[in-house]
Amino acid sequence: MFFIVYTIHALNMKYQQEINLKNHSGMYIGGVGKYSTFLKSEEEILDIVFFAKENKLKTWIIGDGTNTIFSENIENVFFVINKIKEIETIQEDENSILIEVGAGENWDSFVEYSIKNNYSGIEALSFIPGTVGATPIQNVGAYGVEVKDVIDSVRVFDKEKEKFHWMKNKDCEFEYRNSIFKKNPDAFIVTKVRFILSKKEPSIPNYPDIQNYFDNGSIEFATLKEIRDAIISTRKAKLLDYKEVPNCGSFFANPIVNEVELKKLKEMYPDIKEFQQQDNKFKISAGWLIDKAGLKGKSFGDIYISEKHALILCNPERKASFDNIEKAEKEIKETIKEMFGVDLLREPVICE
Ligand SMILES: Cc1cc2nc3c(=O)[nH]c(=O)nc-3n(C[C@H](O)[C@H](O)[C@H](O)COP(=O)(O)OP(=O)(O)OC[C@H]3O[C@@H](n4cnc5c(N)ncnc54)[C@H](O)[C@@H]3O)c2cc1C
Repeated sequence: MFFIVYTIHALNMKYQQEINLKNHSGMYIGGVGKYSTFLKSEEEILDIVFFAKENKLKTWIIGDGTNTIFSENIENVFFVINKIKEIETIQEDENSILIEVGAGENWDSFVEYSIKNNYSGIEALSFIPGTVGATPIQNVGAYGVEVKDVIDSVRVFDKEKEKFHWMKNKDCEFEYRNSIFKKNPDAFIVTKVRFILSKKEPSIPNYPDIQNYFDNGSIEFATLKEIRDAIISTRKAKLLDYKEVPNCGSFFANPIVNEVELKKLKEMYPDIKEFQQQDNKFKISAGWLIDKAGLKGKSFGDIYISEKHALILCNPERKASFDNIEKAEKEIKETIKEMFGVDLLREPVICE
């Protein structure tokens, strides 16, 4: 008994660290949390989970916070900032390599590392901010590639089973901007991810912006470095640096509609942009819908829809509150529903 009381007291001293959540959110919105810690190794997780349980706290893992919005009044949450670092080759042959990466590694540094070593597969995901451990959470994607295409397995601490284990790709329930991890917040802590990368020649992503970069598609072959440069230059032209103008990237996922819904939309708006998916489903551009609704550049209190990209909600003066962003989201969703009959889904996660 004495030992438990002593341990709780010691952990209390260690974890009672205030955290200004604004500094851990791409959107620069949030209050102050009472408990926080840096997670540097798997060995620390048992103490963290024990402390949270004893104090009836929810644990919330923070990577770089580029896909997270915090409210100003958060209580009973223990914030764990993931800093687990490692890049290790597990096995390789002449065609491919299996690499294990710590969840706290910076994603784009890992992409750069893979390109320097001539491993292909993630070059299209260049310049996505955030940590490696967050990539499986919403199955990050860009230019026709999703991280699920290269994930072999994800190592997690499963809070219910109270143990570490590797989850194979098929068990992660990856979907467009979704996974078992996003659907079950507070159930898993991702500590490492294993990626299978290729040693074969890369291909240029079949996306208009990228094809245009390579002379309107007339250049057929490019090196990994050239593809990365094309992606970075295209992203820089379209997106906002969240460190300068707070934002969380795309605020809404592209809605998926069926053939009948698409036909109806096309009758009203023949210039709507769609991308064919599997099972006769179509992804339509949420940015196009917002633009067409005349919302680009519009402000909602201190939240603005970027003039550069209709999918980006930003907080340029760093004054916006959680209430502002909630109201902006609601208003945009209602306008789009009314005009197109389409439901928008928010991409960033909310901690409140
Ligand atoms: C300018 C900009 C551009 C972007 N472009 C893209 C893009 O092209 N494609 C795209 O898909 N996304 C994009 N994003 C969104 C974001 O960068 C990604 O979702 C990224 O993976 C988030 O990483 P993070 O470390 O910042 O995650 P955080 O915001 O810290 O966390 C996001 C969620 O994952 C959980 N989480 C994080 N790490 C762990 C872990 N180790 N274990 C368990 N749960 C965890 C958090 O609790 C939270 O629920 C963009 C964001 C910005 C600001």
